[in-house]
Amino acid sequence: MPYIKINTPIPGPKSEAILQRRAKATPTGLAKSTNVVIDRASGVQVIDVDGNHLLDFAGGIGMLNAGHRPPAMVNAITEQMEKYIHVCALVASYEPYVALAEKLNEITPGDFEKKTILSNSGAESVENAIKIARAYTGRSGVITFEGAYHGRTLLTMSLTSKYNLFKKGFGPFAPEIYRLPVPNLYRKPVEMSDDSYTQWCIENLENALVTHISPEALAAIIIEPIQGEAGFIPIPKKFLKRIREICTEYGIVMIIDEIQSGFGRTGKLFAIEHYGIDPDIITMAKSMGGGMPIAATTGRSAIMDAPHLGGVGGTYGGSPLACVAALEIIKQINNEEFLQRAVAVGEIIHSYLQKWKSSYEQIGDVRGIGGMQLLEFVADAKTKQPDPDITLKIIRTAVENGLILIRAGVFSNCIRLLPPLVISDDELHEGMGVLEKSIQMHLG
Ligand code: PMP
Repeated sequence: MPYIKINTPIPGPKSEAILQRRAKATPTGLAKSTNVVIDRASGVQVIDVDGNHLLDFAGGIGMLNAGHRPPAMVNAITEQMEKYIHVCALVASYEPYVALAEKLNEITPGDFEKKTILSNSGAESVENAIKIARAYTGRSGVITFEGAYHGRTLLTMSLTSKYNLFKKGFGPFAPEIYRLPVPNLYRKPVEMSDDSYTQWCIENLENALVTHISPEALAAIIIEPIQGEAGFIPIPKKFLKRIREICTEYGIVMIIDEIQSGFGRTGKLFAIEHYGIDPDIITMAKSMGGGMPIAATTGRSAIMDAPHLGGVGGTYGGSPLACVAALEIIKQINNEEFLQRAVAVGEIIHSYLQKWKSSYEQIGDVRGIGGMQLLEFVADAKTKQPDPDITLKIIRTAVENGLILIRAGVFSNCIRLLPPLVISDDELHEGMGVLEKSIQMHLG
């Protein structure tokens, strides 16, 4: 039995009324990738306020690996609510904060003593990582990369790439940030092999330690192991390995941002586990909280302890409700069965993507690791000229037919698939069928 049921155009009349209120009450800058107005959700399934049944393949931009409202999480939040909602970790202590910090210290990569500070959003966890790295090293420089996305606060926006969408009009940006090319193998110069291009990027990084900033002035190098917003670009192992070596050699803090790639999405708890590299600090958010606003910065104890007493923290950071939710989510995700399912989901998605790529020249690339899969649309396979317009049209048709999707990519010409990993085979095939029809309609 198919799940999707469309009774009205999307948006229907009730949705339209709320969208009009949203447009009046909230600023234009707050974008939305669909006109879906939600009433209820569970697992992968969403019902809108007009009674339409849709499948959610955007998963709150990677926030819902464990699905909408996992029952154990809802129970944990409900039980916690009966006791207390918050007290502020800067005022008093509570066990769920400590238990979550202990759990994250245990499950993050690296066989060394770790500590964790909790916060409310991915951006805040990155801000904490940079502050802590600076306090530890006594240096201020930070290397970031083209395509990076680390958040929208002033410091994290400064670390972020894609100027027109994320930065236009918001400068001046935070100083002491140095941006370097990252090996995006799909867009490498045609005459170069994958390996020579990666090597070129490594040499560029090494040169930057002479031409841009001295390693002795560098506090941190921050990178997403699989860039998210940039279009699911897996960073070659050789490149990450060289970063690790440079950081170790010069006492620079290696920060891995797993906010989008973490918590089972790639078939491992953290994407960096595919590389066998231990970062000094790891930032986490999104699927860790199953939709509750919570984030974490976990790192080597000696680094995490560098800031002075009172130098880090905030009113809401590590909300008890979010902590108990995250503990339940970790139980659900951190087991072989869940992680194997993530791989299987990724394989099913990838087989569709490969099939479409061989049928349509405008699908320039399909890529990803595990359940983190993406399609890149180009006007021409040779020139690889990005085609953001066709990407948008395909998404709009898919949404009208009951499939919630979002774009990605520095050129906004990719569709990223981030369905909750609790998806059934039937739901997965149904959703991919809707996307297939939409692609056929626009490219066929
Ligand atoms: N880092 C990465 C890799 C992200 O994908 C995001 C969110 N898309 C962030 C940081 C920022 O997270 P938040 O939106 O929770 O601030």
